[in-house]
Amino acid sequence: MRAFLIGRWQPFHKGHLEIIKKISAEVDEIIVGIGSCQKSHTLTDPFTAGERMMMITKTLENYDINYYAIPIIDIDYNAVWVSSVESLTPPFTTIYTGNSLVRELFSERNYVVKKPELYNRTDYSGTKIRKKMLDGSAWEHLVPEEVVKVIEEIDGINRIRRLSEKDYDEE
Ligand code: NAD
Repeated sequence: MRAFLIGRWQPFHKGHLEIIKKISAEVDEIIVGIGSCQKSHTLTDPFTAGERMMMITKTLENYDINYYAIPIIDIDYNAVWVSSVESLTPPFTTIYTGNSLVRELFSERNYVVKKPELYNRTDYSGTKIRKKMLDGSAWEHLVPEEVVKVIEEIDGINRIRRLSEKDYDEE
């Protein structure tokens, strides 16, 4: 059985790794969709699809998991988004998602939709990790060590800080 899991992975954190490990015990192959692949260089989506691909593939090299990682572009047309996903991925029967819009769109197309369990959502949250990266708090323990290395390689923390700079001094 092949299943689909889509996320923005901004960045890929330990909660994401836990759900992939859990799903891999239930299915033969996982298709990891790298959602909003066209987005990067913003405070909510700082990393490119290629950088997120590195975070996922370098982390999953350490595990015996059969997966495909596939960039998935957003389209401003929810009613046909599932067809767009289908055009980019191997066939699958089941989707795991905690996102209500994704759940609704795939349910309407008769996919089996499962909700993955959340792991330590208090700490394992992309929004909170990006905030820590910006304000100088420790974030490294919240992501796999390969993700730390990728973010160092691309100088990701300085990117986020530069993106947060104001164009002018506020009075
Ligand atoms: P996300 O990165 O926030 O989350 C990815 C998955 O990880 C989710 O299923 C979430 O429940 C799970 N997760 C998060 N924290 C966790 C934790 N601590 N423990 C366990 N699991 C955890 O991504 P998302 O918002 O679900 O991504 C949806 C993607 O689909 C986005 O890129 C969105 O733009 C795209 N989308 C596009 C369209 C369109 O183009 N029309 C429509 C719907 C969705």
